[in-house]
Amino acid sequence: MGDCMNFPKDWAVFLEDYSFRDHKEFYTNGARLIPTFRVEQMMHHYLQKAKEDSVVVVHGRWEPWAIQPNGFIGSYCCTACKKVSITASDYCPNCGAKMDGGNEDG
Ligand SMILES: [Zn+2]
Repeated sequence: MGDCMNFPKDWAVFLEDYSFRDHKEFYTNGARLIPTFRVEQMMHHYLQKAKEDSVVVVHGRWEPWAIQPNGFIGSYCCTACKKVSITASDYCPNCGAKMDGGNEDG
């Protein structure tokens, strides 16, 4: 606490900033060392950031595409990428959009 942490954009720079060489390099052969609590801080910060960055989810809907005379829907069109799929799954197999309900009769 009270530690003014600096998290650069690139986590590799964080490692560079907070690691050090031991004085005698007896056990390390010159490899850089970093305290485990710094690794914990780094993991917490960058994983949290990655989570926040990945929150943007593309949403789409399946629209009936090939409706046969008997009302059977032969395929569906993704509203996000406009590709046609034969199944109305939870996610578009082409663009990965998350499909918002609406496949059941409402
Ligand atoms: Zn799609």
